[in-house]
Amino acid sequence: MTIREIRKTEGLCLYCGGKIDREGIHCKSCNEKYNGWKRDHNQQYHAEGKCTNCGKELDRDGWLCKECSKKANAHGRERNAYRRANNLCVQCGQPTDGVHSQCRKCLDMLADRRNKKMKRRI
Ligand SMILES: [Zn+2]
Ligand SMILES: [Zn+2]
Ligand SMILES: [Zn+2]
Repeated sequence: MTIREIRKTEGLCLYCGGKIDREGIHCKSCNEKYNGWKRDHNQQYHAEGKCTNCGKELDRDGWLCKECSKKANAHGRERNAYRRANNLCVQCGQPTDGVHSQCRKCLDMLADRRNKKMKRRI
């Protein structure tokens, strides 16, 4: 078992091994640190006029450069890039825990769907 797995099964923060004092897999202070870093990183890129995906200078409006946007839009995903950068669920736009790109509800739904698929296969 890895230290991560041990912490997970014991319900401890995956980063520092401390007690979890919020919902999720990281304690409040680690979550804030991580969240802050990620948000700052994306917001800073955006403020500097850089693509939040590849870091290149933006050559269009939005969160992604032309190239990334083309790729993203092929999957209808520029909205997702915006949501990811703002810690919002890429499925429904609700705030996430900052660790996952989807909110708890959507994650549960996804896990549900996955389980059903697996069962069908068996
Ligand atoms: Zn922690
Ligand atoms: Zn880009
Ligand atoms: Zn959601």
